[in-house]
Amino acid sequence: MVEKVSKIWMDGRFVDWDDANVHILTHTLHYGLGAFEGIRSYKRDDGDSAVFRLEEHVARLLESLKIAGLESPFDKKTLVDACRECLIVNNLDEAYLRPLAYVGDGAMGLYAPNNPVRIAIIAWRWGAYLGDGALAKGIRAHVSSFNRNYVNAGMPKGKIIGHYVNSIMAKRAAKASGFDEAIMLDTNGYVAEASGENIFLVKNGIIKTPPYSAAILGGITRDSIIQIATDIGYTVDQCMFARDEMWLADEVFMCGTAAEVTPVVEIDHRTIGAGVPGPVTKSVQSRFFDILRGRTHDYDQWLSIYSI
Ligand code: PMP
Repeated sequence: MVEKVSKIWMDGRFVDWDDANVHILTHTLHYGLGAFEGIRSYKRDDGDSAVFRLEEHVARLLESLKIAGLESPFDKKTLVDACRECLIVNNLDEAYLRPLAYVGDGAMGLYAPNNPVRIAIIAWRWGAYLGDGALAKGIRAHVSSFNRNYVNAGMPKGKIIGHYVNSIMAKRAAKASGFDEAIMLDTNGYVAEASGENIFLVKNGIIKTPPYSAAILGGITRDSIIQIATDIGYTVDQCMFARDEMWLADEVFMCGTAAEVTPVVEIDHRTIGAGVPGPVTKSVQSRFFDILRGRTHDYDQWLSIYSI
């Protein structure tokens, strides 16, 4: 259960948590057109808090709306400020932020061009997405029987609400089969991403991840990991690979705002490498958390600082 906080930002003002309701005729509830974001803030060792890559997340929300053919009623600055205020108003020194842009009520039927576009921002405390121990010990995954949406059916560069039916089907099937997460292939059979994370493998010291042009969301954590790993001195090759290359990798990890940097130690009942989080994954993961916790200031341009 999500732990209730005090206020939710809806269409430009804060309302009480219990009053943040929508009408049953809300268009998006019926058809799924809309976009959302997932953003995290962290409490830093110096006592302040920091939102990770806030501007980039809001920019991607606006890009997703562009892909969806919807116009945002608010500009980027208003949304960035509202995200920050949502944390402060709710006294959250560490949280997950969920901006949600959706088509409100008015006309029914698919077309409904004049229904209002509405935006809400919700914040709550959220621990390790893939469960306790996932970050330290790694997870078990399988390759899903569900493909990632074909690039001309779902638009993978948009974080579009309705697209997530595909992810939820894959995630539920993975859990029902006893795995922690689903890895999804594209319609040509190459590895794309997980249900809510981008994927990386490591082989002979080289890191590989599918390119931005693949059937993947352009993850902001993915982009950060590519920069961090390159700065550490690793080669990051953005290329396609198939599931057997993943089975033969020395290390595999996933990353995303919710999942952070999570090692994968088993795929399709095959042990990956030594079956424990590997040295490359661990070095990238610890650098990532050092940035978030303020133990290094080398990437401060990614952090939007606030105090509670
Ligand atoms: N792929 C999918 C399908 C996702 O839902 C997410 C989470 N937003 C990601 C990748 C990772 O993206 P990010 O690092 O921006 O959270």
